[in-house]
Amino acid sequence: DVLVIGSNMIDLISYINRMPVEGETVEAPDFQMGFGGKGANQAVAAARLGSKVSFISMVGNDAFGQQQLNNFKNNNIDTTGVGIGTKSSGAAPIFVDKSSDNRILIIKGANNELTPEILDKYVDLIKGTKIIVLQQEIPLETNYRAIDLANLYHVPVLLNPAPANKSLDINHVKKVDFFSPNETELATLTGMPTNNMDEIKKAAHHMIKLGVKNMLVTLGSKGVLWMNENNSQIIKALKVNAIDTTGAGDSFIGSFAHYYANGDDIPTAIKHANQYAAITVTRRGTQKSYPKADELSSLVK
Ligand code: ADP
Repeated sequence: DVLVIGSNMIDLISYINRMPVEGETVEAPDFQMGFGGKGANQAVAAARLGSKVSFISMVGNDAFGQQQLNNFKNNNIDTTGVGIGTKSSGAAPIFVDKSSDNRILIIKGANNELTPEILDKYVDLIKGTKIIVLQQEIPLETNYRAIDLANLYHVPVLLNPAPANKSLDINHVKKVDFFSPNETELATLTGMPTNNMDEIKKAAHHMIKLGVKNMLVTLGSKGVLWMNENNSQIIKALKVNAIDTTGAGDSFIGSFAHYYANGDDIPTAIKHANQYAAITVTRRGTQKSYPKADELSSLVK
């Protein structure tokens, strides 16, 4: 069982020739809507692999909120913990230009209504899971409450500090079992450079010295650095032809939680999650690119 506590967003992707200037209207060639939000993405990845996934999240009081709920159900995610807020659904208008450069706005909407008190209603979900997965598109205080409750019931926690937030409290980070930033997030959090492997290792070691138990630093096509007090190793990515890396980090986090909850030791779970994430970058889209368990055997040799 996997419990994800976190965000959901609707991605509104406009493919544009150029951005309009103030007061101007410009026609754009194409548009696509997609289900996103880091929490939802991670929950979908774990569920497609066959884990029993519960999600604690807030959708908006609008049509997007209903569509999100349907999407969770279509992916066999337990929605007992999904509430309907008073604000709009979380949304991300994304503008992709001809050279694939993007500009992204994030409106958190109802995600900001996922307050710490809400978690007290779902103590049974927290007690009954093998791992709790957290990101940072909901209030930090809610994550702190989740970590405290998880500690109380001895449930392991994986915190993906994305998007990075410098005011993240290290005293709570110390209490999670897995802390998984990418290189950029690691740089923001430590204030240290992460431009090469030596620098990345130093920054990760800095977090270990502060008391973090396991660092899982995702390194894109290079794989993952796993570091704890006794060990530091790079677990290599699969060599693939990447065409769209959006949502790669979320597919790694969600699949790692699945494999770990289902009994893999840490390096094996990382190896399997690397394979899962590599497949997702060979396909377009975010959740759309996440394979199901039965597709995997033909995709990974
Ligand atoms: P984020 O999307 O948060 O920046 P990363 O780029 O570090 O995350 O990617 C997360 C994981 O996805 C990597 O650790 C790796 O397992 C996989 N991955 C990402 N890009 C590639 C790639 N080009 N080839 C193979 N695997 C990749």
